[in-house]
Amino acid sequence: MTLRETIDRHPDGLIAKAYAFAERAHNSQRRKSGEPYLNHPVAAAEILLEWRLDDATVAAGLLHDTVEDTGITLEDIRGEFGDEIAFLVDGVTKLGRLKYRGAESKAENMRKMILALSRDLRVVFVKLADRLHNMKTLGALPPAKQKRIALETSEIYAPLAYRLGMYNISGELEDVAFSYLMPEEYEWIRKTAEEQYAERLSYLNSILPEVRALLERHGIRPAAVDFRAKRYSSLYRKLLRHDMDLGKIYDLVAMRIIVATIPECYAALGVIHEAWPPVPGRIKDYIALPKPNAYQSLHTTVIGPREKIVEFQIRTKEMHETSEFGIAAHWLYKDRSRASAPANAGEAEIAWIRQLRDWQTAAPGDAEAFLEAMKIDFFRHRIFAITPRGAVIDLPAGATPIDFAYHIHSDLGNEASGARVNGTIVPLDHRLASGDLVEIIRQRGKKPSEDWLQFVTTTAARDHIRAALRIKSGSRFAAARKPTRCLLRIAVEDRVGLIQDISTVTARQRMNIMSFHADNPKGSRFPIDRVEIASTDPAKIEKLIVKLKRIKGIREVSYKLV
Ligand code: MN
Repeated sequence: MTLRETIDRHPDGLIAKAYAFAERAHNSQRRKSGEPYLNHPVAAAEILLEWRLDDATVAAGLLHDTVEDTGITLEDIRGEFGDEIAFLVDGVTKLGRLKYRGAESKAENMRKMILALSRDLRVVFVKLADRLHNMKTLGALPPAKQKRIALETSEIYAPLAYRLGMYNISGELEDVAFSYLMPEEYEWIRKTAEEQYAERLSYLNSILPEVRALLERHGIRPAAVDFRAKRYSSLYRKLLRHDMDLGKIYDLVAMRIIVATIPECYAALGVIHEAWPPVPGRIKDYIALPKPNAYQSLHTTVIGPREKIVEFQIRTKEMHETSEFGIAAHWLYKDRSRASAPANAGEAEIAWIRQLRDWQTAAPGDAEAFLEAMKIDFFRHRIFAITPRGAVIDLPAGATPIDFAYHIHSDLGNEASGARVNGTIVPLDHRLASGDLVEIIRQRGKKPSEDWLQFVTTTAARDHIRAALRIKSGSRFAAARKPTRCLLRIAVEDRVGLIQDISTVTARQRMNIMSFHADNPKGSRFPIDRVEIASTDPAKIEKLIVKLKRIKGIREVSYKLV
């Protein structure tokens, strides 16, 4: 059902009400592309409907930008729609403050943060729907912003969707991001693969009647048979492992057979293997042994009619929907009586996703209980605060603005004279919460106070305060503490001209290289370049790191002040 149909069917319902509210709120606003702003929340809500999420989530999709981008306050939303919707909208608004720039803030931290902040997975779903539509309309933004958002999508949101088992959505995000992050490679692969795709499709179409007849002769009536073309981004990754030779990729387009039951999956596999010889080593039973993200299916590659290679993927409807919608698919089975417990998912699985799955299987058929279980609290012992520039700072629970300041830089800690949290001045011993936007008020030349030792929670803060107090009393530790330069550690894939590029980029940032040292440490996958720079300004250094990371061949950059 489309959004329009839903609204027409229930003109007094929650979704209709949210639509009217969003329409008024975004009123005459336009997007960068010139189209009415309302198109965006409507598109996000359409996506959420397609994932078959509940009305509250769809309504939150419609309202998700009202607090951030219009005069509406969270209290307005609460007054009009109640706590649940206000909570969801607030969650999405907070996630909007995060900005991943690929530099210091680690991707894994950011993904954890998103989950910690969200508390309710439905917030993540709204965010993913928001991002999916933004990616599809990224063309209207300036190139620098396109790159930042594409990078964030590729390193944060696509992997997050993948871990939530939203396989298809993850792939879609990854593919659009790929076209912005590596435009030349994307073009190349599009051109190269286009013809092959067409050829494969016409071949598969030609054998389709034969496959159907074969299955029916054995009493198997597939619910659907379709073709799944490999996405460009994953094709590109695969080509990198296969000498860029498209001839070695057998699963460019696979034939997908959807049947009713698991026994039918195995029966279909048997029938296919009887008709056409399978290619050894290419049979994968992800039904008995699902992938870590719960993906289930049978895969096989056979030598098909006219001696051509064909990949088949066979699965049940339920497995299919799980791979399309991931954890969200659970909403489809509110009355799952035929729930089949997933088999062993392997050791690599991360604890939190396993926890989610446990909740799912522990509360089958109970929508209320599942909703409760969606309210996550994985990171009770950590909080994630945000800098004004959108970086995520991971701190222990109970951390204060002083811990936050020292985590960023010892000078910022020493010179902290006040703090603003979400725009409001707070005392320095204020306990931070996840999602707080923290701004440190700085007074040049100020020294820390001994009282701070009473309330700081991190060892780093404590050590820095003690050290600074010793400086104050003029002890022998004096001058020793203050860093004077920055040591960059750059993991590289060596190539001609790389060092030249590093020094050009550094010079363009008006920073001086003091020394340069290449190293090939044992046990490290890439050679390491160590570069010493005459700066201790973290903002400048971070900016340099962002630029360095754009150089071809640079894998990782970290730094310390010395
Ligand atoms: Mn949005």
